[in-house]
Amino acid sequence: MDQDVAAKEQPRYIKLNDRDNVAIVVNNFGLPAGSRFACGLTLRAFVPQGHKTALVDIVQDAPIVRYGEVIGYALSPILAGEWVDEARIRMPEAPALDKLEISTAVPAPLPPLDGFTFEGFRNSDGSVGTKNILGISSSVQCVKGTMEYAVKRIRTELLPKYPNVDDVVPLTHAYGCGVAISAPDAVIPIRTLQNIALNPNFGGEILVISLGCEKLAPERLVPEGVSDAIVRMQDEAFDGFGAIVDAIMTQAEARLKILNKRTRETCPAADLVIGLQCGGSDAFSGVTANPAVGFAADLLVRAGATVMFSEVTEVRDAIQLLTRRAINEDVGRALVREMAWYDSYLARGGADRSANTTPGNKKGGLANIVEKSLGSIVKSGSSAITGVLAPGEKATQKGMLFAATPASDFICGTLQLASGMTLQVFTTGRGTPYGLAAAPVIKVATRSELARRWKDLIDFDAGGIATGEKTIEETGWDLFRLILDVASGRTQPWSDRWGIHNDLTLFNPAPVT
Ligand code: CA
Repeated sequence: MDQDVAAKEQPRYIKLNDRDNVAIVVNNFGLPAGSRFACGLTLRAFVPQGHKTALVDIVQDAPIVRYGEVIGYALSPILAGEWVDEARIRMPEAPALDKLEISTAVPAPLPPLDGFTFEGFRNSDGSVGTKNILGISSSVQCVKGTMEYAVKRIRTELLPKYPNVDDVVPLTHAYGCGVAISAPDAVIPIRTLQNIALNPNFGGEILVISLGCEKLAPERLVPEGVSDAIVRMQDEAFDGFGAIVDAIMTQAEARLKILNKRTRETCPAADLVIGLQCGGSDAFSGVTANPAVGFAADLLVRAGATVMFSEVTEVRDAIQLLTRRAINEDVGRALVREMAWYDSYLARGGADRSANTTPGNKKGGLANIVEKSLGSIVKSGSSAITGVLAPGEKATQKGMLFAATPASDFICGTLQLASGMTLQVFTTGRGTPYGLAAAPVIKVATRSELARRWKDLIDFDAGGIATGEKTIEETGWDLFRLILDVASGRTQPWSDRWGIHNDLTLFNPAPVT
């Protein structure tokens, strides 16, 4: 035991690829100048945990290589053992979109994985939910307060009578009025609301609260065949607020009666729709949590499930590695299309992809968006990319999909819900209390120190990979089993235990009038 502890306190770094000329420091709280690694390298300066040191002397303008890829160029000569912080690195240009190799390295299908199941709520359209929720959508922000008032009453007066229903979730948002409803990009927020109503966790029983004069007609948010599930506040039949709330309660109870008949049944893992995301990344994200998630993602793909990764600005700088994995030319072109759309969206706003990295990312050792992206795409595992979804589009394919979304945690979560995601796996290095009301979120820590400190917020610790206590494979299998447990309702993630959830946040790139 003592030997173990001593071994862990040895100066340690992680080098990921033979070509790398930098490595990241593993030890908690970093290492002082003079620290000597087993290989003989001695630090010339303090290097914080997760930050890079040069393994060899790097001349000015020479490439700095991590993950076997160029993450930037030396602004001045860097000596072996020095701290390679962001100020010493010039960021390379993003890969040109017209020069990408498409489908040139399509991975062979992974061997099928049979026999894994979860307990889910099967719907009449064949989809399977991981929760049984009454979703109440809205066509405009004006009704938000009314909805929340009604939901409070539904929770206390109705929900206890329907024990098979997990929750009532109001899908409030800022859209619906004062928007350029016919602008080309308005398709994104509208499609998002339409498809969220079809999320398998709502069992096809959405209720819509409308004002009555808004631009976004509430009928557009009701799934086909459910035409009477709208309460319009301006309906002249209502005599006062009390009558409106009574109507919402009546409609809600009708839906609760139907939802209460849903019970969990054994379903193949192929029925899962899993979203992957990261937030508050650090230099360990691409070393521990994301590789473990990537391994679990491969297991899910092998089991026949749908898995989606997202966050355009965090794949843009590694897109050359993804287009090669596209299963065919169409999927490769769709990847390029989504990158190009986002490049122009950012340019329109006078920004570029360098706006993505946060002060927390940099404190955690990520020098720039190139390094962050290379660590981020590891989540997608090693399978072929079988489909691409524009923001808010519903997934219809199996396998590993790219669902184009901003990297913003709650916007990505909202768009993945619209794409049909029923459980999200979320990796974090800096830590975030992130959660979604409509689907369980498993939060994976990149470092054991964070997992220990946030023992009642983090659901899974991938930090053992950095210290050598666990392999990526073992950790990936553990995570896969946790996904099945959470999808089955056997294990509740911390965000659900505390009831802490982020807002539904629509992506609206269209003008507001
Ligand atoms: Ca994110």
